[in-house]
Amino acid sequence: MNHGIIGKRKELYLVSKVLVISLDAVSDETFDILKEYRHFKTLYRESTLVREVDSLFLSNTYPIHTSVATGTYPYEHGVFSNTKVQPGNNHPDWLCFSQFIKAKTLWQAANEKQLKTAAVMWPVTGGAKEIAYNVPEIMAKPRESQMIVSLRAGSKFLQLKEFLRHKKVLKGIQQPQLDQFSTLVMCDIIKEKQPDLMLLHLTAYDSLCHQYGKDSKKLKEAYEALDANLGKLLAVIDEETTVIFFSDHGQLNVHQCIQPNIYLRERGISEEEAYIECCGGSAFFHAYNCSEATVVQMKEHLRGTQGFNRFLTTEEMQLCGRGDLPFGFCAKVGYFYERREIQEKGNHGYPLDYPHYKVFYGVRGKRFEQGKVLKGGSLLDLTALIAKECELDMPDIKGKIKENIYKERVL
Ligand SMILES: [Zn+2]
Repeated sequence: MNHGIIGKRKELYLVSKVLVISLDAVSDETFDILKEYRHFKTLYRESTLVREVDSLFLSNTYPIHTSVATGTYPYEHGVFSNTKVQPGNNHPDWLCFSQFIKAKTLWQAANEKQLKTAAVMWPVTGGAKEIAYNVPEIMAKPRESQMIVSLRAGSKFLQLKEFLRHKKVLKGIQQPQLDQFSTLVMCDIIKEKQPDLMLLHLTAYDSLCHQYGKDSKKLKEAYEALDANLGKLLAVIDEETTVIFFSDHGQLNVHQCIQPNIYLRERGISEEEAYIECCGGSAFFHAYNCSEATVVQMKEHLRGTQGFNRFLTTEEMQLCGRGDLPFGFCAKVGYFYERREIQEKGNHGYPLDYPHYKVFYGVRGKRFEQGKVLKGGSLLDLTALIAKECELDMPDIKGKIKENIYKERVL
């Protein structure tokens, strides 16, 4: 069977191109609902699915996508959270730019092999020179022009052309319209540029789940939109293309926002002395200029506060890159930590032992069986699979290719 990288020295390409679709926040259990929709039903039937997979902690979008892009833990790749730690700033900067990643990425490894990567709304890709067709997910700061910051951070001409082509479907950055736009852009890139590695991030489910919770009827809108988008993608790829799909984390229903920094201020501890970084299901204590006694006191106090579940273990702190902080803690199901009061019905960022919190990945391609279901492992194994499919050299990947995922043994 023909597979691998072929072509003349200056024009190398993958025989089987690889399309990776990230279905943000669709947990392993939620996939059971999604696979009843038309195109997902077909994809499910034709794929090998790996279920009950562990995500990465901190279970938020940017650290996990960077783990998938590098095959490493957050403590290795350096993207610990979605945003920077900026006490006093209610809208901290998002870590949108690839310069924050300290490990080798899929797109860098692909570029080394002269393969072309396209990324649409993939997190932490701003300014990535190795991505030939880059439409990055960039969060504009208040009063910044979304258009200008996006153009600057990605492929300018491509983004401008695609915006003019499909601006009618957009309603700002509202979902599910944004996913529809992202899909149309990726379809155009596939048809016109035939990149080797294609990375697409769809976030309608995550957005609607934050807003309405996991059990809301409104989520039907997200399922239908995801299914319609999948249909468009499957219609434009050639039959040689390997399709890989996964989710980064689940969501849990919440009813109460907790602002733990209020506890510090009530005790007269200023932001210059200490700050609690709030990441949804978990929070981290940063001590800047306060005594050891204050840290111990606050740790004891937080234990008794509303919605507190437990302190994070040493291993959790280290793997998520926060081993140098005094402590971290996580919320009971139903509660989440925020720097300001917000109304949400769903959230994530919890440790990986929470119930109903597993994720999945699947692959459809010539070297994979149809309708096979495997179980277990880590999302880092997914990177090993993508790297194998693209024949990339990524020696630092911590995951390993899931046993029996290939029809035949591949070396
Ligand atoms: Zn996410």
